[in-house]
Amino acid sequence: MIIQPKTRGFICTTAHPEGCAKQVQRQIDYVRSQPKLEGPRNVLVIGASTGYGLASRIVSAFGAGANTVGVYFDKEAEGSRTATAGWYNSAAFEQVAAEAGLKSYSIVGDAFSDEIKAKTIDLIKTELGQIDLLVYSVASPRRTHPKTGETFSSVIKPLGETYSNKTVNFHSGEVTVATIEPATEDELRQTIAVMGGEDWQMWIDELKKAGVLADQATTVAYSYLGPEITHAVYLDGTIGAAKMDLEKAAKNINEQLSAAGGRAFVSVNKALVTQSSSAIPVVPLYISALYKVMKEKGLHEGCIEQMYRLFSERLYSGKEVPVDSRGLIRIDDWEMKEDIQSEVAQLWQDLTTENVYELSDLEGYRREFFQLFGFETEGIDYEKDTDPAVAVINLR
Ligand code: NAD
Repeated sequence: MIIQPKTRGFICTTAHPEGCAKQVQRQIDYVRSQPKLEGPRNVLVIGASTGYGLASRIVSAFGAGANTVGVYFDKEAEGSRTATAGWYNSAAFEQVAAEAGLKSYSIVGDAFSDEIKAKTIDLIKTELGQIDLLVYSVASPRRTHPKTGETFSSVIKPLGETYSNKTVNFHSGEVTVATIEPATEDELRQTIAVMGGEDWQMWIDELKKAGVLADQATTVAYSYLGPEITHAVYLDGTIGAAKMDLEKAAKNINEQLSAAGGRAFVSVNKALVTQSSSAIPVVPLYISALYKVMKEKGLHEGCIEQMYRLFSERLYSGKEVPVDSRGLIRIDDWEMKEDIQSEVAQLWQDLTTENVYELSDLEGYRREFFQLFGFETEGIDYEKDTDPAVAVINLR
């Protein structure tokens, strides 16, 4: 069939297998062009099919030559419905990893469930023995608690007060003011249950109990802090509260692992176009302004450049891992540079529908958004009949 993008708000409901494969190959090529890493040997990535999790998996495999297990929640194609982008990305990853002689496995299902944890542990036992890195990179709108059965939904809302700021419809370029009512106590509780640290801690407990977490293992989960412009809707809002909970989990896990020489970190990453960040009001316009400034200064990075730098200059540099006063890894250091932020703040004041394509990189944002789904990718013939059914080899 001819596969074209179909959008509904900030989601794209179709994905292109060849375009996704090409995007994955581009990330692999980038990592292969960089110096080899003295990194992890056996890696488990939870949330491995898109965004930061996929990039972490690619850096582990093609930067450090590690064997990888990827856990993700994606759908294969059915009839005329395409698979999700994460499915196609993972199909491509597995293929290239196999050609490179790396062991790699995919587990598709709900990482929050006991069943998927047990299945993953069995796989590690039989195929890898132990893992020495766990990357926790889940971004989800919902979580069903494995013990109580309660299903929680996360919301992106401010706390305490109504918040208004500029936002953009990145399809039309219309800049408007978004007004978001504050979250209720229950919405806050549910968001922390979905995006906080409980599930990460559960993974560690289960892996340890089963004896599949190596002594001196490393684990890392991802967070975002961002500038003043986004604070009300991110850092000081429901999602920021969930990230504080993630930091608390990192401290507990670090204590738990340190006796055997292990370590746990939260890495604060740069704001980037991913399926998750496009759902947050205000953030796509901020990212467009940020991209404009960072590209002009030659400091722009995507997921893969960020993750390569996280591994090579922080987690596996052979030196003590540099952290800030709160113990966080700061790979958002370039984004948060004073000169970058003051230019973005200036642009932010001036941004309107009339000048948005001139003052910000909204066109770059829009293109990257479609590239997440394998569209607008150079070298792909989108008029060509394409089979949406693609198998993931090594699917368990
Ligand atoms: P993403 O949407 O690209 O990826 C999310 C991944 O989680 C996918 O692989 C998806 O399959 C998986 N997933 C979702 N629900 C799942 C479930 N129930 N079981 C198994 N897998 C599931 O997201 P992202 O933007 O890469 O975010 C990853 C992490 O990075 C999040 O913690 C996010 O807060 C953080 N982060 C993102 C940004 C950004 O700008 N995008 C910046 C800093 C930090």
